[in-house]
Amino acid sequence: MSGELPCGPADDGLDRPHWEGLREGRLLLQRCGRCRTWRWTPRLLCPGCRSFDVRWEDVEPRGRVFSWIRTHHPYLVELGPDAVPYTTVLVELPGAGGSRVLGRAAAGVDPARGFRIGEEVVGRIEDVPGAAWPLLRWAPVGTQQDVAA
Ligand SMILES: [Zn+2]
Repeated sequence: MSGELPCGPADDGLDRPHWEGLREGRLLLQRCGRCRTWRWTPRLLCPGCRSFDVRWEDVEPRGRVFSWIRTHHPYLVELGPDAVPYTTVLVELPGAGGSRVLGRAAAGVDPARGFRIGEEVVGRIEDVPGAAWPLLRWAPVGTQQDVAA
C-alpha cells in the first residue's frame, strides 16, 4: 500500500520558496543578491562572496542531461511496487549558471528509453498522485512529452 510521497520543503525551510514556486508553475532557484552567483542547492551563505542576501529568481526549465539513472527497486515504500522502474535525471541549467537540478522523467516518457548525456530536455511541473507538492519532471526535447512543442 502506498502512502504519501515524501517530497516538499526540507525541515530547515531553506528550499520552501522553490516548492512554493512549483505550486505557482514556476521554477525558482536561489541567487545571491550581491554577486549574482546562483546557489543550488539553497544555502544561507553565498559561497562566492559570503553574503546573506538571498533572492529567488525564475529560471527557464530547459537544460541538458548531466546524468541519469533508472531505478528498478522500490527504495521508497511510499511509491508502491508498481512505481518501478522509474528514471531520475540530473539536469544542468544554462539559464542558472549551470546549476544542476534533480527530477524524474516526465509522465509518459518510456522508462525503457533512457536519456543521453548532453541531451536537451524541458521541465514540466506535474501534480503527482499521493504527493502534497508538485514535482519538476523532465522530457527530451522533440518528444511527445515535450512541453515546448
Ligand atoms: Zn554572493
